[in-house]
Amino acid sequence: MKLGAIEAGGTKFVCAVGNEDGDVFEKIVIPTEKPEVTMPKVYDFFKGTGIERIGIGSFGPIDLNEGTGTYGTIQKTPKTEWIGFPLGDEVSKHTGVPVVVDTDVNVAALSESRWGSATDVHSCLYITVGTGIGAGAIVNGATLKGLSHPEMGHIAIRRHEKDTFAGTCPYHRDCLEGMAAGPAIEQRWGRPGKDLKEKELVWEIESYYLAQAIVNYIYILSPERVIMGGGVMQQAHLFDLIRTKVVDMLNGYVSSPLLTPDRVDNYIVPPGLTNEAGIKGALILAAE
Ligand code: ADP
Ligand code: ZN
Repeated sequence: MKLGAIEAGGTKFVCAVGNEDGDVFEKIVIPTEKPEVTMPKVYDFFKGTGIERIGIGSFGPIDLNEGTGTYGTIQKTPKTEWIGFPLGDEVSKHTGVPVVVDTDVNVAALSESRWGSATDVHSCLYITVGTGIGAGAIVNGATLKGLSHPEMGHIAIRRHEKDTFAGTCPYHRDCLEGMAAGPAIEQRWGRPGKDLKEKELVWEIESYYLAQAIVNYIYILSPERVIMGGGVMQQAHLFDLIRTKVVDMLNGYVSSPLLTPDRVDNYIVPPGLTNEAGIKGALILAAE
């Protein structure tokens, strides 16, 4: 079956034609400008391709509740030109095929669970630490949704005793994203994360926040694997700092053999797929 896939991001839209096995036959990258500029190029790409459905992994917030009448509509976002844009409906209207929408992180989680770092488990969490922080969860093979989609980047965290940074989140100031996403690191230290590799306190504070978040996600969702990606996680030394802190903070309370110091390396892991996780995940959405 020929399927369409869209990875709708803040800087670019990647569109592809592929199939349910994750094979990609054709692909195009379109810069994210305002909807009137970007979207006609998206519709053009799919013309005459013979696809039967389209899956979209989108930046958010986006309404994923099928009962609201605004399913697939972009909500409050710093990209103000997109607020209220009915992405799912418009793509369906212009291509004439049904559209399934989910968040970019849910779609990445789906992809990792099918072809990446979580093929051997039934549940996992995919966390991205980049310009923002977001996470997608797979529970029994499906992405976790409810009222709309989870907003795991905006949870409250305890402040590090050496950290006086106010936080960057326009809604909550010092939530997880406000304290630990790439822009928070850059504003706190006056230089981007990639230039701070040797400064120990940067990563001590960063891992303290990310570990707290993971501990909370473990308590609430009980994932069998935690996958961490995004620009900030290019600092590969962060993985061991986070693993150690997660085990310490849990303090033995969740008694799983996966959460012991010698096995946690296989519990908190980098992504298994590189640049096609979004598109492949959107193909899974389209196939379902
Ligand atoms: P996006 O979240 O916009 O999709 P990325 O996942 O690449 O994009 O995240 C971008 C953020 O990651 C920026 O804030 C940048 O400073 C940070 N970043 C990118 N590369 C690195 C690196 N090697 N080390 C630390 N931070 C990085
Ligand atoms: Zn926030």
